[in-house]
Amino acid sequence: MLNKEYFNDKNLKQVSGYAETKYVPSYLVYPKSLEDLNNIINIAIENKISICCRGNGLSYADLVTNKDNILIDLTLFKNIKSWSKDTGIIDLEPGVSFGDVFNLTMLDGWILPCCPGSMDITIGGAISNNVHGKDSYKMGNFGNNVISMKVLLSSGKIIYVSRKENAEIFKAIIGGMGLLGIIIEAKLKLKKISSPFVETSNVLSKNIYETIEVFDKYKDEYDFSVAWADCFSSEQSLGRGFVSLAKWSGEKKIEKKLLEKSLIKSNRKSNLIFNVLPSKPTWFILKYFANRQTFKYFNKFFYNYNVFKKSLGLNLENKLELFNNFNFLHNKMPDIKNIHKPYGFLEFQPLLPIKNIDRNIKEILLLCKKFKTESLLCGVKLHKADEFFLSYQLDGFSLGIDIQIKGKKREDIRSFSNDLFDLVSDCGGKIYLAKDEYMTNQHLKRMYPNIDLFLNLKKQYDNKGVFSSDLFKRILND
Ligand SMILES: Cc1cc2nc3c(=O)[nH]c(=O)nc-3n(C[C@H](O)[C@H](O)[C@H](O)COP(=O)(O)OP(=O)(O)OC[C@H]3O[C@@H](n4cnc5c(N)ncnc54)[C@H](O)[C@@H]3O)c2cc1C
Repeated sequence: MLNKEYFNDKNLKQVSGYAETKYVPSYLVYPKSLEDLNNIINIAIENKISICCRGNGLSYADLVTNKDNILIDLTLFKNIKSWSKDTGIIDLEPGVSFGDVFNLTMLDGWILPCCPGSMDITIGGAISNNVHGKDSYKMGNFGNNVISMKVLLSSGKIIYVSRKENAEIFKAIIGGMGLLGIIIEAKLKLKKISSPFVETSNVLSKNIYETIEVFDKYKDEYDFSVAWADCFSSEQSLGRGFVSLAKWSGEKKIEKKLLEKSLIKSNRKSNLIFNVLPSKPTWFILKYFANRQTFKYFNKFFYNYNVFKKSLGLNLENKLELFNNFNFLHNKMPDIKNIHKPYGFLEFQPLLPIKNIDRNIKEILLLCKKFKTESLLCGVKLHKADEFFLSYQLDGFSLGIDIQIKGKKREDIRSFSNDLFDLVSDCGGKIYLAKDEYMTNQHLKRMYPNIDLFLNLKKQYDNKGVFSSDLFKRILND
């Protein structure tokens, strides 16, 4: 059990977000029980220090750091309280990960929709960022799967929230970045699937406009879509690439034992890149060659390689794959972020409304060219609006702009981000806060119009201001 004496400089640990741009000292604690959580809250209040919750720390930046204050790691809250394969309803603690859920439910024929790109993401983290997946244009964001939650407030009270009970706070906690209370239990509804396999197809596109057309053309027929775009290509072929599509398959031919084995394997992070190269030494060597120019060549090569495959008739229709292998691409490239060590990397993820999408997405790609901040590897997704107050949602397209920090001046990145945020807010879009570290308070207010409503609820439910984060102090707390 922690006590007041624990909070001295000796126990400060250096912690960062996933992108490892900055390490900051915090009191990182690992509670195991409700009693531990209450104890930590009391100590925080007595000592006037704040608390930031953490799942697996896979948010990219200062959303999961809390300089000189407390970080509560919730990954020991890992119990699955109940699972019904008849109804597809699961009751679990917040530290359970997508991988844990899939190991239990997939063989029973159930899946969690709106699944992000890493299976290590916890349910607490998924709810608090209201994450999206490659199916979010159909299924919406993760909050749509949540039936109800139990939340521990800083007053020590536990509230039950759902669409019927405490409905307003329910809508604020989903996407609420852990700023209102600690989610200690959630009840989720899963989706029935006919098998754990998907049929995948890749469709090449000559530029970003064709990519958008492909999304539109196949959106009813397919359950998942995500595109890769070459942001270095010339203006005529700007954003060329391909769209990966997938739909659930009825395939059941595989023997149950073998399926079980493949599922467990596909749910585990490998140490090999594409099952061939050992990741640690490969990234260590490649980091010396990783720069804007080499990524430009890589993007060009990758596009032409796919065109070549298509010309040989090898391309890529109706391939059968395990869902996990399709969805968790990061598992095939474990720890790819190490290529950016020791500087870390940045991802800006603008989400733009459908209206005037061609014009706005082109402007963003050209802005990146102007600042030489073209995305090293750019993923494009289609999204759907939802009801939650602060979530990263609207009917529109997002693109991930990944850039290196190495070799860039902070003021140049600041100028780029300011122009980008102007563009995004002018067209009614949003930047994903789970990955941000450059947002300003003025831009935030334009992108997230419910911010005042949210902050009022925070005053009401966390009146001592116990829950915080470095992101909160940077842009929300003024
Ligand atoms: C490889 C990779 C791929 C990704 N792909 C996607 C993607 O496709 N789509 C997408 O939307 N995001 C994606 N992300 C981002 C990721 O989904 C989110 O940042 C997610 O919230 C991280 O979950 P986590 O369990 O690591 O939680 P953390 O990052 O540790 O925490 C996230 C937030 O949840 C809060 N929190 C955690 N647990 C609780 C709790 N019990 N109670 C209250 N608050 C809590 C924290 O305070 C914080 O605000 C990706 C990240 C990585 C590293």
